[in-house]
Amino acid sequence: MPSLKSGCRSPVTGPARLFLKAGMDGSPASRPFKYAIHNMINITLPDGAVRQYEPGVSALDVARSISEGLARKVLAANVNGQVWDASRPITTDATLKLLTWTDTDGKSTFWHSSAHLMAEAVESLFPGVKFWVGPPVENGFYYDMDLGDRKMTEDDLAVLEKKMNELARQNNAFTRQEIAKQEAVDYFSQKGDEYKLDLLQNLHDGEITFYTQGAFTDLCRGPHIPSTGLIKAIKLTSVAGAYWKGNEKNKMLTRVYGVTFPSQKELDEYLQMLEEAKKRDHRKLGKELSIFAMDDDVGPGLPLWLPNGTIIIEELEKLAKETEAAAGYKRVVTPHIAKESMYLTSGHLPYYEDSMYPAMEMDGTKYYLRAMNCPHHHKIFAAEPKSYKDLPLRLAEYGTCYRYEQSGELFGLMRVRCLHMNDAHIYCTKEQFYEEFKAVNEMYLKYFKIFGIDKYVMRLSLHAPEKLGQKYMNEPELWNETETLVRDVLVKTNTPFVEVQDEAAFYGPKIDVQIWSAIGREFTLATNQVDFAQGRRFKLEFTTQDNKSDTPLIIHRAPLGTHERFIGFLLEHYAGRFPLWLAPVQVKVLPISDKFLDYAKEVAGKLKKADIRAEVDDRQEKIGKKIRDTEMLKVPYMLIVGEKEMNERQVSVRRQGKGDMGTKGVDEFISEAVLEKEERRAE
Ligand SMILES: [Zn+2]
Ligand SMILES: [Zn+2]
Repeated sequence: MPSLKSGCRSPVTGPARLFLKAGMDGSPASRPFKYAIHNMINITLPDGAVRQYEPGVSALDVARSISEGLARKVLAANVNGQVWDASRPITTDATLKLLTWTDTDGKSTFWHSSAHLMAEAVESLFPGVKFWVGPPVENGFYYDMDLGDRKMTEDDLAVLEKKMNELARQNNAFTRQEIAKQEAVDYFSQKGDEYKLDLLQNLHDGEITFYTQGAFTDLCRGPHIPSTGLIKAIKLTSVAGAYWKGNEKNKMLTRVYGVTFPSQKELDEYLQMLEEAKKRDHRKLGKELSIFAMDDDVGPGLPLWLPNGTIIIEELEKLAKETEAAAGYKRVVTPHIAKESMYLTSGHLPYYEDSMYPAMEMDGTKYYLRAMNCPHHHKIFAAEPKSYKDLPLRLAEYGTCYRYEQSGELFGLMRVRCLHMNDAHIYCTKEQFYEEFKAVNEMYLKYFKIFGIDKYVMRLSLHAPEKLGQKYMNEPELWNETETLVRDVLVKTNTPFVEVQDEAAFYGPKIDVQIWSAIGREFTLATNQVDFAQGRRFKLEFTTQDNKSDTPLIIHRAPLGTHERFIGFLLEHYAGRFPLWLAPVQVKVLPISDKFLDYAKEVAGKLKKADIRAEVDDRQEKIGKKIRDTEMLKVPYMLIVGEKEMNERQVSVRRQGKGDMGTKGVDEFISEAVLEKEERRAE
């Protein structure tokens, strides 16, 4: 099942509870109507500007008062931290952010509304259909439905799309209605819809809303876009079976996936991107280029790195080692397993037990394969006494971890059970934190440049003060200090970032690094984590300058993520055309005929001496075929040698993707190639 981006939109208790006892005009029932006396309310906009409006004003009204053009783009609104219908009346002072297509919440509201539109179309074509839930997902939406005895096929999707387009053009408003539980139960009993009745079981008076657009009404906590006319381009992508509530003992429902956009142009671009992504699928390229293999006997999710893939791994590790050495890191090596007691100390057990391989028992002690490297590094910190002079201590290791991912979640190199992480842990004082974090951030930016990653964003997850001591460690000062420092680094280095409230880890703020491949597909690369818990759990201490004992702050970081995910990303990003420094075979020498085989071998020998990975194509094939085959293998350079080249000690150079580059002396070519690879040039 795809991950739900902003939670399932089944009508569970929504965040809008605050206003649920409100009258239909949206005014809190506990307060008398104040409309008559025209008390104005203050609306604070994201830039800090405060504007005054009549109570009952909607986000859409506010947008209109700014510009009509803006109002046409508004999909939803963030009102006091909650996502609302843009058309919903605001009756008290509020902070307001208008949400459009470029906001995650705007987009998911758009897609969830599209699921309702699809349901309306389904209902008109399949009368009597019953619906379960229809959430937005990472790229679009789906709706689960019970069609009774009928079946939906891929062919029906085109008909459905047409109907949806027709309904979208009617530009029907999405209207929200608060409703008493009994009334809702009556409505769905009459319809004979046991699914919505099931959802209603856990809901109470005051938290139930219906949304209607056109002829379709759904039990839903919302929010929704203002009207269907905003949906300009529709593509239903697939139909599949899905067990009710994900339980295989339940009835199989029909799940229809789709994606919609506010313009045809955006849909076209999206479809083109999918087409391109298919060509660049890392599983397909991984096989064609002999990068990795999977074997049933080894087990699912356990990739075997073939010699070509191993070369890429070693080049990446070389880059990491050089970069980390220059940044003052020290390398360590630690075992892949440890006793249960260590993971109890770290808290991975019992909390992460489900994602760890089961324990193995030896001499009456349980051992686990590690799912993370951190505890081992903490033990290295603890192995010898530390003073302030030892800090910051930066311990690095390309650590191998094992995670028990559900078999349904496994996906090529992207979701695996054995991973090699570009891991390091930085132990520092509070005073050193800013500089250390800044250096980590700079390392990310340096890597992005090397790999030609132009689009990236850091997602900074913060704590929620009201949840200190429950969801978050009760260290209000440390939270505020570190969050401020992290934000400062991002602002001062002009790093693009977004802030998300209430999504930090238990033990500190974190940064998820999102990157986009050359064809615009998004990947989560790694997570940076500030940690003020593990140091204490492991009783890590250092002697301060005034001879007291203190616990270090810890930064977890992995800029190159794992080899598995990063090489999967690079395969798509480069479409398999690795830059020279990463290419498994860097140069192929192609003799025009056997007569020049000895010269070809001599050239290849010289290349190898210069540390260039070179091969000779010694097959008895026509040169045209040799060239085509080498292009298929995406080797950066081909050197063609015949009579003229041999006599003049030269080579004819062809560059992957660029074609003929003329003739060069062998030594000249070698010195240029060495420079290109040493500088890790993109091409
Ligand atoms: Zn809904
Ligand atoms: Zn860690």
